[in-house]
Amino acid sequence: MHQQHQPQQQVLSVAAEMHPLVKTGGLADVAGALPEAMAGHGVQMTTLLPGYPAVLDALSAPRVVGMLAGIGGPARLLAGRVGAAEMLALDAPQLYARPGNPYLAADGRDWPDNALRFAALAQAAAQIAGGAVAGLAPRLLHLHDWHAALVPAYLRSGPTAGRRVPTVLTLHNLAFQGLFPANQFSDLGLPASDFSPEALEFHGRIGFLKAGLLMADAITTVSPSYAREILRPDQGMGLDAILRWRDMQGALQGIVNGIDLGIWNPASDLALAARYDAHQLDERRANRRALESHFGLAHEEQGLLCCVVSRLTEQKGMDLLLDALDALSALDARLIVLGSGDAAMQARWLAAAQRWPGRVAVQIGYDETLSHLMQGGADAIIVPSRFEPCGLTQLYGLRYGCVPVVAHVGGLADTVIDANPAALDAGVATGIQFSEVSREGLVEALRRCALLHAQPEVWAAIQQAGMRANVGWERSAASYAALYRQLLARDPVPKA
Ligand code: ADP
Repeated sequence: MHQQHQPQQQVLSVAAEMHPLVKTGGLADVAGALPEAMAGHGVQMTTLLPGYPAVLDALSAPRVVGMLAGIGGPARLLAGRVGAAEMLALDAPQLYARPGNPYLAADGRDWPDNALRFAALAQAAAQIAGGAVAGLAPRLLHLHDWHAALVPAYLRSGPTAGRRVPTVLTLHNLAFQGLFPANQFSDLGLPASDFSPEALEFHGRIGFLKAGLLMADAITTVSPSYAREILRPDQGMGLDAILRWRDMQGALQGIVNGIDLGIWNPASDLALAARYDAHQLDERRANRRALESHFGLAHEEQGLLCCVVSRLTEQKGMDLLLDALDALSALDARLIVLGSGDAAMQARWLAAAQRWPGRVAVQIGYDETLSHLMQGGADAIIVPSRFEPCGLTQLYGLRYGCVPVVAHVGGLADTVIDANPAALDAGVATGIQFSEVSREGLVEALRRCALLHAQPEVWAAIQQAGMRANVGWERSAASYAALYRQLLARDPVPKA
């Protein structure tokens, strides 16, 4: 309660995408959810985004609050709102006035000036921290992924030199690191001494994320298990030594993502054929029927109906699941799949649907509405990822009584409680986990799933425990707020 009496802390969140304006992945969901989630914790968050056309179009009542001259050429800073969220957009048409994907040209290749585009964003954030916008004095900067990871480098050499503005860098997926050729370093406007192993240089190239990992005051990633996994050479994607060093300093922690409980609510979800809560699980049958007819399957009252909503990639273990379809069929289970991926993987799934008619049905593509119906009507959702920073579909599954069957990795390990005998006795089991991420491990998990599903009371208890699970933003927001407070206590506001 005492938080209510604290002054609002201004925090600038810096990201390359934000739901609902621009989204290519989970980063956008987090950037979009944080401002509202943090508002209850005495944090007034403003989000800085590149001024892509979609962002400029969405700003309500935009006003120019600053003119910046930086490495990306002249730029305007526009302030406005999107819904209740306070926004700043870096309006630099020479960098961002391009259609489509924020990172890629129409031919699917990275824009050749991506280093400059996101360095300019970082430099603008540092200028804002240095007072470039009247009335906005962020006490802390929350940076997302490599796109914002150069902010500490610009703070060090820029207008705030002398005034400490702490930084939090959140890793959403270590696979994307912002690596560029060394000859682009001179475009970045940083001191020559920053092209060193202690700063941006990374095996002869420029490493945006690497620099951020060295220089940010705190690093978070989107689940505690992923925070530990990336310390290992086999999961650290070349950054594990730096991460181990920062971890030894106590600078690394995992904070699991939440989901929007308003959008993902089976009691009010208009994408469902029938709405329900944890005491009306029979209502799910209507959703099952709707799914069966959508996917061209016969209606079966009994029998395990599994689903997948996913990018069809090896990270997501989709090849393992393909190899396990004979076992799934032997269990008399059925599988419906919604996803997209590269042409070869899509072709394999379409071939699987041909090979197992009536058992495996596949829809290639992205369909938000259908994804809700699948969570509301299937019995189980299968997520056999090889690595998973957090994962969202298992959280939707919990909320919808669609029991998650997940690999014991990253955020999947942290959010699902395996239905082992002790957890079942205690009534806390919410899903099925398997630790050996292989065809055999997955098949064993599917067998356990089928056995549990054949015991209706046990199964309903697992569904209900999942539906009670705390999957909203509240706990994570409290963790971010505690981290902000800890960093701000290290750097108290100078007395006027
Ligand atoms: P990642 O970001 O690694 O792809 P997550 O589980 O964190 O995986 O987030 C994926 C998000 O995209 C979820 O909201 C999921 O429901 C959604 N999604 C993935 N594929 C599809 C699809 N084909 N149709 C609809 N939604 C999808």
